[in-house]
Amino acid sequence: MARVLTFGAHPDDAEFHAGGLLAIHARLGNSVHLVSVTDGSAGHQSTPRVELAKRRLAEARAAAAVIGATVEVWDAVDGELAPTIALRRRVIATIRSIAPDLVLTHRLHDYHPDHRAVAQLVRDACYMVRVPNVVQESPALARDPVVATFADFFTEPAPFRADAVTNIAPVFDTVVAMLDCHASQVYEWIPHTLGLAGNVPTDSIARRSWLESFVGRYAGRVAKAFAPGCEVAEAFEISPYGRKPSDHDMAALFPCL
Ligand SMILES: [Zn+2]
Repeated sequence: MARVLTFGAHPDDAEFHAGGLLAIHARLGNSVHLVSVTDGSAGHQSTPRVELAKRRLAEARAAAAVIGATVEVWDAVDGELAPTIALRRRVIATIRSIAPDLVLTHRLHDYHPDHRAVAQLVRDACYMVRVPNVVQESPALARDPVVATFADFFTEPAPFRADAVTNIAPVFDTVVAMLDCHASQVYEWIPHTLGLAGNVPTDSIARRSWLESFVGRYAGRVAKAFAPGCEVAEAFEISPYGRKPSDHDMAALFPCL
């Protein structure tokens, strides 16, 4: 049984970028644990932080429940994340306690400072998870997990490299069901930031089919760029700071349905 651990900056990041791969792992009986390092309290145009953090925690729990994953939403302030030593220690302790086979996170080259901070935290935790004198209260791992990053379209200083691709068509409905739980984001904040607020239907069935098209367009763009032949896909770049995966690791960690 494989164990997958994701570190996102915000409560919906893992679902957006790896929801398909996570759904496939869950369907195969593998365990999935999600961590949002921030409380998500910046992501709304009108809801104040405290209220929004509560709402997003409930959304994150509902989304994780769709695939039977466990989830933690930490209390770092959304929009102000820094890769501190305290957070590095918490990331190290979390990786050690779960002993994942695969860690997924953001790439270091990303538009959002919180995403970059999480990428840095995970990169800084790699190797240290095997050093017993670092975070002595949690036993060091004998070997590094494989670490992979979500796909993106940023090109500076280096474009994303697709080392693994996942055809998410067989689990696309599950991905949409997970994202549908993040209503404050997918129906309110993200359309607001994209100038699409007027396009989102109010009726719950109609808005879900709007979400399907929205998610399908992004997953289609990823497929076109990195997984030709797939209609909808996710892609992942293997980090050189985690364990170098064997062919067997790649088949087990990036399975197809
Ligand atoms: Zn995010």
